[in-house]
Amino acid sequence: MAQNSEYKELLLNRKKEIEKIINSLKNELKGVNSCDIKEDGDFAACSTNSENNYQIYKKQLQELKEIEEALLAIEKETYGICQMCEEPIDPERLKIKPFAKYCIDCRELIEKENK
Ligand SMILES: [Zn+2]
Repeated sequence: MAQNSEYKELLLNRKKEIEKIINSLKNELKGVNSCDIKEDGDFAACSTNSENNYQIYKKQLQELKEIEEALLAIEKETYGICQMCEEPIDPERLKIKPFAKYCIDCRELIEKENK
């Protein structure tokens, strides 16, 4: 088992990045709302942009949630264990995606089910 403190640092760094992205997206989304008053042509352009930003915003929020869960798991010493099969997650995978909750096998199963 690799050192959890390493992952914790990865997670905390990522968390900071995401919080920055979320904050700037929030500002952009707010700015876009003021487009509502403009004439129709502008509004169309603005709302497409806002839709994209909103999707990114939602994704970032989701990732932030997963990071917080992973940090909690480190505290509880359940970090790095697949939540489906309870096998340890490959450390190489955790380095790329430190907030992974599932091992590669289970992740693939879930993705297939979601399709
Ligand atoms: Zn698994």
